[in-house]
Amino acid sequence: MVIIMNPDATTKNIEDVIAVIESTGLTAKVMEGVQQRIVGVIGDKTRLAACAIDAMPGVEQSVAISKSYKLVSREFHPHSSIIDVDGVRIGGDEFVVMAGPCAVESREQLLEAAEIAKQGGAQFLRGGAYKPRTSPYSFQGLEEEGLKYLAEAREKTGLRIVTEVTEVDAVDTVARYADLLQIGARNMQNFRLLKEVGRTEKPVLLKRGLAATLDEWLNAAEYILNEGNPNVIFCERGIRSYETYTRNTLDLSAVAAVKHLSHLPIIVDPSHGTGKWRLVKPMALAAVAAGADGLIMEMHPNPAKALSDGPQSLTPENYNDLMRDVKKLAKFMRDEGIHSIDLA
Ligand code: PEP
Ligand code: MN
Repeated sequence: MVIIMNPDATTKNIEDVIAVIESTGLTAKVMEGVQQRIVGVIGDKTRLAACAIDAMPGVEQSVAISKSYKLVSREFHPHSSIIDVDGVRIGGDEFVVMAGPCAVESREQLLEAAEIAKQGGAQFLRGGAYKPRTSPYSFQGLEEEGLKYLAEAREKTGLRIVTEVTEVDAVDTVARYADLLQIGARNMQNFRLLKEVGRTEKPVLLKRGLAATLDEWLNAAEYILNEGNPNVIFCERGIRSYETYTRNTLDLSAVAAVKHLSHLPIIVDPSHGTGKWRLVKPMALAAVAAGADGLIMEMHPNPAKALSDGPQSLTPENYNDLMRDVKKLAKFMRDEGIHSIDLA
């Protein structure tokens, strides 16, 4: 952090700033400019959080140089992390796919979807039992009954289960059934919920907020790591923009940016990212090419009858077609040694 002093700051003003910095155990270094003097702070600037330096006489402003997140950052942890979800490794050489319906609607629907997901080559079954719906009149999910169907599907297929937890009170229940806890876009900055999943032993899939900057997203992950849970996977799922043709604007540049900024894996959700099933396959392939570690996609045995997100759900045929080409592209890139992202 550097503290920029006003051009008319007095020597006493600068001495007072230095005294505050040194009282926290940090080191201050004064740099003389042509018109202004700057005080550099060396050490962990979080120690200054309680000292309102910007309000001190003679101070123009303080500017952070290093990032506010640490545990999540690649500076702190230079090697890419691989998150092991009950034997499925995310962030390594394997491209991981999570597929299934938006919502668990019934035992039959879920078991059928699980079988299709498995046959197509996914490693995870997705399905929401607690649904954060925009309208209170929309289907809200089967809650614990839905979790039981997910657990049954895991028994039958061997697929890992990823499902959303929307409230602090439901964390223990969801963690009992799920292999991977999903934090949805609407809860990305629900800090109590982030802390609560940070206290569990389950890996967390952290979706990007509807209008979150990368900095806000990385800081959200920092909440989870700071509670002692190092197993976080990011999920880019599109952000709000002025475009209305697509449901969201899928920001694939986030894949490369997050890989640069953080050691944690990142996967892509082209279903919520576009809102249209026709756009899911091209964006899924683009995500592979961009260097994503995996995909999460909505697939329904009969999208026309889906209780939520039918228009963006793949039919079993479209899912199989997508999986064939995604696997081919991922293998081609691996075999040819094509790395989208240079992690020097
Ligand atoms: C979901 O994956 O079911 C979901 C609700 O997604 P998002 O939080 O990205 O909107
Ligand atoms: Mn959905």
